[in-house]
Amino acid sequence: MYSVRMRARRHARHHSGAERLVPGDAVDQAAAAMVRRAMNHSRGRAETIELAIEELDSKQIEYGVLPDVQTWQVSDFHQGRRAAANLLCSLGVGPAAVETAFADMIRGAAPDGGNMRGAMLVDVHSGCRLEPDPARGVRVSRMDLSTEARRNLSRVLQQQDLDQETVREALVLAAKVRMAPGIVAELCWSDDPDYTAGYVASPERGYIRFPHLKPRGDRRGGRAFFVRGACVPLNALLDYLQLRPILFDRVGHLHPPQFWTESGS
Ligand code: AMP
Repeated sequence: MYSVRMRARRHARHHSGAERLVPGDAVDQAAAAMVRRAMNHSRGRAETIELAIEELDSKQIEYGVLPDVQTWQVSDFHQGRRAAANLLCSLGVGPAAVETAFADMIRGAAPDGGNMRGAMLVDVHSGCRLEPDPARGVRVSRMDLSTEARRNLSRVLQQQDLDQETVREALVLAAKVRMAPGIVAELCWSDDPDYTAGYVASPERGYIRFPHLKPRGDRRGGRAFFVRGACVPLNALLDYLQLRPILFDRVGHLHPPQFWTESGS
């Protein structure tokens, strides 16, 4: 198997990125698709594109199962953010950590107010950010779907019109993150100005989507991984997220959507 990673920049900032784990005979196709993505992005064309292709020892690859998926319908992004914050609190993420994640993602989580390349790590209790480089964040890579799981996932997601690359990729990323040592939950919304949906994923509740977590047209987005900072050595967490290869060969259930109400869902 090969890890294929792409990183693109524009105006000296992060523009887009992608990561796959594919057999040797699919490397060229995966790399070409990544270049196409960077050149045809809703944020404009990339100015520089870097590709990294590495062979991995297939004995090191672990296998995993994707989380269950459910959509919580919300009327707008204000309600979506309230619903996501409530869910995070119910999962054991403290108020300071929820506040840090929302405030930083709303203003642009990098120190210059732009988007980070990766995710922030937020301590569940103190709300402090733990990632070593707050501009870069932590970029999760070396994860993908097996060919059969990709087919099955598409079939399952089609039932609710969710079979889009954005959803499939986010699910794979969230699946790896929720298996990480010390992770309590993840919050994400896209930096794509046309994509307003986001999610909260966790080991406990799976992957819960909200159709609106940001206003249309907003170029800011990001990811926060909520972590029990005192219980897990940071290096072990970073090694897992960045280096451990995981192939998801089983998909979870797709539950019927439900409406979120202010009094609790
Ligand atoms: P996207 O869902 O691709 O629009 O990405 C939204 C935000 O999530 C980006 O601005 C990054 O901050 C973060 N992100 C994207 N991909 C990754 C990744 N592989 N690992 C960690 N964070 C990521």
